[in-house]
Amino acid sequence: MRNTFLPFSKPSITEDDIAAVGDVLRSGWITTGPKNAEFEKHFCEYTGAPNSVALASATAGMHILFKALGLKEGDEVITPSMTWVSTVNLICLAGATPVFADVDKDTLLLKAETVEKLITPRTKLIIPVHFAGAPVNLDPIFTLASKHGIRVIEDSAHAAGTFYKGKQVGYRGTSLFSFHPIKNITTGEGGMFCSDDKELTDRIRRLKFHGLGADAYDRKTQGRSPHAEVLEPGFKYNLTDIAAVLGVRQLARLDEFNKKRTDIAKLYFEKLASIEEVRLLKDPSGYDFVHARHLFIIRVDTPKINRDLFMEKLKAENIGTGLHFRAAHTHKYYRENFKIEKGSLENTEWNSERMCSIPLFPDMKPEDVDDVVNAIKKVIANA
Ligand SMILES: *Cc1c(COP(=O)(O)O)cnc(C)c1O
Repeated sequence: MRNTFLPFSKPSITEDDIAAVGDVLRSGWITTGPKNAEFEKHFCEYTGAPNSVALASATAGMHILFKALGLKEGDEVITPSMTWVSTVNLICLAGATPVFADVDKDTLLLKAETVEKLITPRTKLIIPVHFAGAPVNLDPIFTLASKHGIRVIEDSAHAAGTFYKGKQVGYRGTSLFSFHPIKNITTGEGGMFCSDDKELTDRIRRLKFHGLGADAYDRKTQGRSPHAEVLEPGFKYNLTDIAAVLGVRQLARLDEFNKKRTDIAKLYFEKLASIEEVRLLKDPSGYDFVHARHLFIIRVDTPKINRDLFMEKLKAENIGTGLHFRAAHTHKYYRENFKIEKGSLENTEWNSERMCSIPLFPDMKPEDVDDVVNAIKKVIANA
């Protein structure tokens, strides 16, 4: 057994990153400023998105996006229950109703056919998730949405470096990326709104900072113009430059990170394929994609041991795991307030009970993969 704990995720931070944060701290300008502008510019260049706004988190972005779109009571939002609870929470906080869509059993991705059955005259938004770094089949979802005049928002929290039909996710439509420490690039906490809708982008830029008609940082005045006016009541969801400088540096290494993630994932696919008690996810089929390998998810599918005990036993072997995700509708609040019929989200529930994320991060070594695989084999053999 390993003598040190292997976490399931770990950001790749260099001494130069730390020095760059120090430089920002010494510069005299530590909140939203030149590093935010640089991060947004580079993010647009990387994704091909015409507009972007850096934010305190993806959740903050979703909040002001719902605000900007006027989401309200009586509106329905179609989203998988197999997602992070932030989206579902915000739908409820806006007074709207989440309509849960089941996902594919082996890719965990939302399909247009499933969405179609859930559309009603009240449907206002569709929010697919590019799960674990694999892209949803977007074209059929966009076609369906435009037929019904519904907007699509892509949850791209897992999709920095995810390509769909040759294009980075986020280049069109409206996407939210997350830079939480487990995501493919991190700013500690942070998010990025990307959109081809200039008007919507302007609303987001203003709602993220008190609803003021100007950004916090004005290149001419080295500060906000004292005459900037509130155009509508807004929030305080801007990103600091202390964080943004990390974003600039991490984005420059994103391809390198994802290459390393891909190599680790490849080893897992080879070494875990023969263990019948753990089922691997399948990659999407039928369209061209690049997988960002954000998470490596296995499903513990054996009467010998349940997932929770499996995770506990791996921890005792010094192997960290994560759960992405326990289905939103199985959380207390949603169980009690939505009463989703057991079995109506069959694939979501099947996965929610069996899935766990095993270690995958850029600085992992092939020996670490062997440690994980050996620990899994041991836990199953002793179950
Ligand atoms: C991380 C995550 C979010 C939220 O991102 P934050 O930046 O932490 O607010 C949203 N959706 C999914 C699928 C995520 O994994």
